Amino acid sequence: MEVQLTAPNGVKWTQPLGLFINNEFVESSNGQKLTTTNPTTEEDICSVYSATTSDVDKAVAAARAAFRHSSWKRLPGTDRGRLLSALADLVEAHTETLATIETLDNGKPLSLSRSWDVPEFVGVLRYYAGWADKIHGQTIPVGPDKLAYTVRAPRGVCAQIIPWNYSLAMAGWKLGPALAAGNTVVLKPAEQTPLSALYVARLAAEAGFPPGVVNVLNGRGAEAGAALAAHADVDKLAFTGSTATGREVMRLAAGTLKDLTLETGGKSPLLVFPDADLDQAARWAHEGVMSNQGQICTATSRLLVHASVHDAFVARFRALVRDVSVVGDPFDRATYQGPQITRAQLDRIVAYVDSAREQGAVVAMGGAPTYPSSVSSSSRGFFVQPTVITGVRPHMRVFREEIFGPCVAVTPFENEEEAVGLANDSVYGLAAAVFTRDLARAHRVAAELDAGMVWVNSSNDSDYRVPFGGVKQSGIGRELGEAGLEAYTTVKAVHVNLTSN
Ligand code: ADP
Repeated sequence: MEVQLTAPNGVKWTQPLGLFINNEFVESSNGQKLTTTNPTTEEDICSVYSATTSDVDKAVAAARAAFRHSSWKRLPGTDRGRLLSALADLVEAHTETLATIETLDNGKPLSLSRSWDVPEFVGVLRYYAGWADKIHGQTIPVGPDKLAYTVRAPRGVCAQIIPWNYSLAMAGWKLGPALAAGNTVVLKPAEQTPLSALYVARLAAEAGFPPGVVNVLNGRGAEAGAALAAHADVDKLAFTGSTATGREVMRLAAGTLKDLTLETGGKSPLLVFPDADLDQAARWAHEGVMSNQGQICTATSRLLVHASVHDAFVARFRALVRDVSVVGDPFDRATYQGPQITRAQLDRIVAYVDSAREQGAVVAMGGAPTYPSSVSSSSRGFFVQPTVITGVRPHMRVFREEIFGPCVAVTPFENEEEAVGLANDSVYGLAAAVFTRDLARAHRVAAELDAGMVWVNSSNDSDYRVPFGGVKQSGIGRELGEAGLEAYTTVKAVHVNLTSN
């Protein structure tokens, strides 16, 4: 049920391959597996067991039993916090291995896995470890004859379906608040990146979580994911992924009226006003759409630039793409951009570039697959050139649809009203960025933008102390911060009669 793996950086580890149910790795009921591919070389890494619907039933039953069992149910919040801290410490101690797994399986630069993904998991768990004994209700004065108080109770069995772009960090965002609040969990990683969550599962058992509290099932979305979303004994569903799948998950969850948290797609605008610091704006704009191979739900993928500074801004942005966006082997120190996750994603990006050309935009940079010389493999990897498309108008697909790649659409505007109109002309509303040195304008525009998050003179800030989530078709509910904890608790009201009446 495990295999020895060695990555190109020389790191070796024992990779679990089973379904993690009741603190044990087990085979799938019919022996089925899924194979994960290294996107840098197109070679298979290994095959992991893939859950059937009957495996989903087993994992949900394990989570239900653990939720009822006194060793978890009666555990004081302080002790739940200690378990979360213990898991955070173990993950931190295994940073090099987990960063390596993430890079091998996902293709993101090792420097990024090491500096962001693993520390994010550790940080978010420590943050919610601190909350675990600070979750309490209120007493509400209702007169001398009655006592009324509220309790913030855990929701119960939580199904958590996560994507491949930040598999480890998303596991942390989901596990931290759910476990701090006393829920039990069945976590389903994406089929493209099944490995890091299995490694964390083993560490969760080592940290001391009782059997059944944390269950991890790899499996196909349409099979294991759908079974979890529809399951009658799941109380809460948290999903991060595309808007199309989010819609399907919501439909499946409707059968039992499950509480939902959805974090879905985006097409976030970044507005550059004429008084902006153009160097700063270009730096953040580049980071906001080109980092993590552009596979970021909050990517600032629409650059709306005032006509008077359009050419100067685009020149700066292009220079950064040329100098910073080094495409190559993610294990290579010099690499800024690794491969896309799959051939399907690569093809999708190229198809969007073609659509932009057909609709009359200008492909100012990139737009094609590429084969970096730093990759020493007979096969070629899913690499694409960082892409800049200018002259984009609102009817074009690259303005309206999420591409999920290192591909940016630039649109000029003439005044503030037009800029806000263009920014809000989207079915999405995840995030938005505003670059201006005018304080009044910054706050005025921030108030006008349809977005769950607004960055002023910055892009893609995310902090586990601050709520994260979108409006419109970018999602429902919030993760992170205190709001993220509310998603995993329910308010129970208790009325006590203090009289003999
Ligand atoms: P992408 O389109 O970016 O590959 P998805 O939104 O389809 O991502 O996938 C995000 C997560 O949702 C993954 O864990 C995937 O397995 C899961 N998933 C996909 N389809 C379904 C479905 N019909 N029901 C439940 N989960 C699904």
